[in-house]
Amino acid sequence: MSTPHYAVIGHPVAHSLSPFIHAAFSRQTRIPLGYGAIDAAPEEFDAVLAEFAAHGGLGANVTLPHKQRAAAICGNLSERARRAGVVNTLVRTATGWDGDNTDGVGLVRDLTDRHGQDLRSRKVLLIGAGGAAHGVAPALLDAGIADLFIVNRSGDRTDALADALGEPMRVHPRYFDDLGSIGSFDLIINATSIARSDDRPMPLPGSLIAPRCDVVDLGYGKAAIGFLSWARASGADHTIDGLGMLVEQAAESFKCWHGVRPDTDPVYAELRARESALAVPG
Ligand code: NDP
Repeated sequence: MSTPHYAVIGHPVAHSLSPFIHAAFSRQTRIPLGYGAIDAAPEEFDAVLAEFAAHGGLGANVTLPHKQRAAAICGNLSERARRAGVVNTLVRTATGWDGDNTDGVGLVRDLTDRHGQDLRSRKVLLIGAGGAAHGVAPALLDAGIADLFIVNRSGDRTDALADALGEPMRVHPRYFDDLGSIGSFDLIINATSIARSDDRPMPLPGSLIAPRCDVVDLGYGKAAIGFLSWARASGADHTIDGLGMLVEQAAESFKCWHGVRPDTDPVYAELRARESALAVPG
């Protein structure tokens, strides 16, 4: 029998750590699998997925910019994917694909289990309203935060995300221009892809940072440096990048496909060690 086939599909995708992570999970659990990375431009996504299935693809992670399209092609969505409106995990069925979203549980697990955060009653600012923001927002509300303020470059997407969450007492869409007068936050999460572009960083006022504020960038490596540096300079208590979330959401996807949740700590430690080894001294 050939090796069961899995992949991450995105654009770009060459930078993805998912093949490394799933290979490590495979060794740890002794579940054999092949996991690759497939680059697909937005207009190619459906055809690339069909070809992947035709060649025996059983499951896929979906990353930017395909998460919304992935939700649209699914026969069934898990409850968390339905609430998120976007899919990052596809599971092959007899007739097509089912979809799940593991981003939200991945972030909450990283913050609570790895970083010891208590999310209950916190006032949270979410910057961004793309696929990742849609995935993490419902999970943050479920974790018991008090208020979720959302800002995004495109105001219509801010409103769409707030409407989809359907909790007007706790969810507050705001404009970027409001940031100077919006008050301060216990937790600030950057869910934008701005660091991957050539655009200038967002001008953010230090007044957003409350005493003991924790600041999270869903990006990792070089992509998280600018935002987390701003946070530290503005007095943030803890700054956390997205590497832990990446490993946790991958473990949840692995569980969807194989029924086993791997131990994430050794894989996270290995990725951190690689990151340190690659860091330029000074
Ligand atoms: P999307 O393309 O779906 O959304 C991108 C978001 O970034 C939108 O809100 C967009 O605003 C905003 N944005 C892009 N460029 C700019 C800019 N120049 N100025 C202001 N806002 C901008 O991407 P995702 O939501 O999938 O990913 C967002 C980030 O989260 C990425 O860095 C990704 O790597 C990271 N991520 C990390 C994960 C992890 O496990 N650690 C998992 C998933 C994502 P607009 O709506 O106006 O275009």
